[in-house]
This record gives sequence, structure tokens and C-alpha cells, in this order.
Amino acid sequence: MDSRLEAFEKGHEAFQKIKFKQGQERYKKLVEEGQNPKALFIGCSDSRVMPAMITGSKAGDLFIVRNIGNFVAPYNPTANYHATASAIEYAVSVLEVSDVIVCGHSHCGAIASLFKDIKQTPENIHTIKWLELGKEAKKVASLAYKHDNKEIMLRYTEKISVVYQLDNLLTYPAVKRRVEEGTLFLHGWHYFIENGTIEYYDDETYEFKALVHK
Ligand SMILES: [Zn+2]
Repeated sequence: MDSRLEAFEKGHEAFQKIKFKQGQERYKKLVEEGQNPKALFIGCSDSRVMPAMITGSKAGDLFIVRNIGNFVAPYNPTANYHATASAIEYAVSVLEVSDVIVCGHSHCGAIASLFKDIKQTPENIHTIKWLELGKEAKKVASLAYKHDNKEIMLRYTEKISVVYQLDNLLTYPAVKRRVEEGTLFLHGWHYFIENGTIEYYDDETYEFKALVHK
């Protein structure tokens, strides 16, 4: 055992002995038949946001891509390494998921950093560039909430950013075509770390509403 990772190794041991045994039939079937996930989940890399846990998903249910700030870069067919874009294309065109969820969350470090003056260095150059994908949300939130408490403004920025990322998703031809055909549905969510609840974006009222009514 590597003592640095002892907690993870113990956790894996417990997984093998209990959870894996319980789901063995399902895993076997997923190997034989391949994956057929219902949804693509685009979430933040934040360690406090666990897509499978907060949605009660099992192996095979969600195709997941996580990045800093749960951003979606607009379609940009250039020769480069576009990780999130390729995950979107694969999920939509190959796996043919029927739903895409962009899930933001409270106390998002990426969103908070939009309001900080961070100096670019060779050690953060990719991060600084990536955070540009939140600048529209920041602009709108700064105007709408300039007289409010900073936390209120940050929650709003996290939510409005999700809406901008949904717009960016529609710049992908594979996404746009399917949404227009009615075979693909886009969802914007915001997860509150502090109380474990999710709100969804209602595009008819332009509001975030509780996903589950207690
Ligand atoms: Zn985050």
C-alpha cells in the first residue's frame, strides 16, 4: 500500500468487497452491451460536486465531462485539443444521448475568480484563457447586482453563466440540429453545495426553480 493514498486504497477495497459485488451483473451487462447513457453531464471539476451522487446515477447512466467552471467553449473547428468539445460531439453524435445537462454550483471558485485580478504567468496561462468563457456572465451580473451583497452576485453569476453555456452548446452543429429536430434537450442546473439541492433553468420564465419540490 502507498501510505500517501491510504484512504483511497481502503475506499477501493471497500468498493470491491461491497459495491462492486452488488452491481456485478450490471457491470457485466455494460461490458457486453456497451454504454448507452441517457445524458451528457457537463459539470465543474470542483471536488464538492459529485455528478453521480447528486443525481443518484449508476454506472452507465451519465456521460460526464468536467472542467473548471463547467464552461462550454463555443464551436471552433480549428486544429487544437478541444477536450470539452470532443466530449460533446461524442456524446451527441456517437452515443446519441437525449439530454445534456450543464450544471453550475454554489461557491464556484472559477466564477469567484472572474471578479479577481489575476496576473497571467506561465503557470496559469491556460486557466486565465479558459476563464474568459465566464466574462459575459460576469458583465451581466456586475450590472444587475452591483448594489447587492457579493454572495448574492456570485450566486447569480454562477446561474447566468450556465445559461450562457447553454447558448454556446447551440453553436455546435451536432447539438443545434438535434435540438431543432426535437431529439435532444438541453438543461441548465445549479447545485447548492450547502443544502444539497438543485435548481433548474426555466427558459419560459427565465428563472431558476427547484428541481424537486419538497
Ligand atoms: Zn466550480
